[in-house]
Amino acid sequence: MYDVAVLGLGAMGAATLYQLAKRGINAIGIDQFNPPHTNGSTHGETRLTRCAIGEGHQYVPFAIRSHEIWKELGNETGEQLLFETGALMIESALGGGSVHGSANFLDTTISTAKQFNIAHEVLSGQQARQRFPNFATNDQDKAYYEPGAGYLKVEECVSAQLNRAVELGADLLIDTKVHSISHANEHVELATSSNPIHAKKLVVCAGPWVKELLGAPYDTKLTTTRQVLHWYPIAQNAMQEWKDHPVFIWIHGEGEGYYGLPSLDDPTLIKVANANYGEPSAPDNVNRDIDPKEQTEMFDVHLKGRLMGIKPQAHKSVTCIYTVTPDSDFILDWHMDHKNTFVVSACSGHGFKHSAAIGEAVAQQLIDGTSTIDISAFNMTRFKD
Ligand SMILES: Cc1cc2nc3c(=O)[nH]c(=O)nc-3n(C[C@H](O)[C@H](O)[C@H](O)COP(=O)(O)OP(=O)(O)OC[C@H]3O[C@@H](n4cnc5c(N)ncnc54)[C@H](O)[C@@H]3O)c2cc1C
Repeated sequence: MYDVAVLGLGAMGAATLYQLAKRGINAIGIDQFNPPHTNGSTHGETRLTRCAIGEGHQYVPFAIRSHEIWKELGNETGEQLLFETGALMIESALGGGSVHGSANFLDTTISTAKQFNIAHEVLSGQQARQRFPNFATNDQDKAYYEPGAGYLKVEECVSAQLNRAVELGADLLIDTKVHSISHANEHVELATSSNPIHAKKLVVCAGPWVKELLGAPYDTKLTTTRQVLHWYPIAQNAMQEWKDHPVFIWIHGEGEGYYGLPSLDDPTLIKVANANYGEPSAPDNVNRDIDPKEQTEMFDVHLKGRLMGIKPQAHKSVTCIYTVTPDSDFILDWHMDHKNTFVVSACSGHGFKHSAAIGEAVAQQLIDGTSTIDISAFNMTRFKD
């Protein structure tokens, strides 16, 4: 009998297991694959992180605390996880764009930066272009620069937390699917492809598979979507300008936004993706093939005329999955029917940067019944049928 079982070891489960193990809890983490893997939401080299959060002020404490944890973890393991390259966010004069459900993304970013005293600069389009000549902003555009923002090595963050969790005494059960969950009075039983697992408490961090695992009412509140990450070559004569570039988000008109990061495996490329929600798709049936038209469209709609020195032919593209709630905010709450089960569905395209602190808050909720960071905004009851 474990004290806690963590079902799913992507971004959220790895962070939760690590934080439980750090507190001496007898915990097991279970995954149907061998994390980090490429079948869910947590792969593709990097994730953008920023502390002023355009999705809403309720996220800022998670982002700030996560940066502290990533740094601590990096020091403990000797492997840097967080890279503070700075982040440039641009809203074109066309305006009106929403990112992750936030209609006033740039303005909310600026107001949360002021509210939480986060170092930043607000730049005109002209100032942004002078400072970052790779970004062909118009004079009328508006920009925000956050020097402490940057990127996280996504797979390494998961591995570091799982390795530390094991060192601290947690058990791992990988390549083992949980087929069903049975709730008894004082414990849960997980039926798996091998022996059943018993635990006093359960944390469900199953990402895109939460729907099928928990059923109603979670299945009607969550949509899983197919997302594509693309890597484009940098022209030889632009290589120097793109060296050490900031991560960026560029909103250019209603529904049109994209973001970019450095390519770690091959620095002659940059990684970019559309920030909008893609086609709904069940996690086990996601079309992993890339239509060349998707790559052409990405370049023509987003990069062309905006990013200087980027070649139009994508080098490679990879699919990934978002799990989206109706308001694009997370679910961090006890199960509606089972009071020994905690549900973590923190994606809608923006969860990774918060995941280290979410794991800590979930561990605190399980152990102390409360958490340092207020999670009340992420309850399940906010959704009215
Ligand atoms: C393309 C893309 C780009 C993104 N960019 C950013 C970004 O720049 N910044 C940012 O902050 N966030 C970003 N995100 C969001 C972020 O990556 C997600 O919020 C986060 O990775 C979600 O992690 P998760 O643990 O919820 O899900 P997953 O990583 O999918 O983990 C769920 C795990 O549960 C396991 N599992 C499920 N069901 C079972 C079962 N029945 N039995 C056993 N195991 C099971 C799965 O195998 C999986 O390992 C992005 C997401 C995508 C897809």
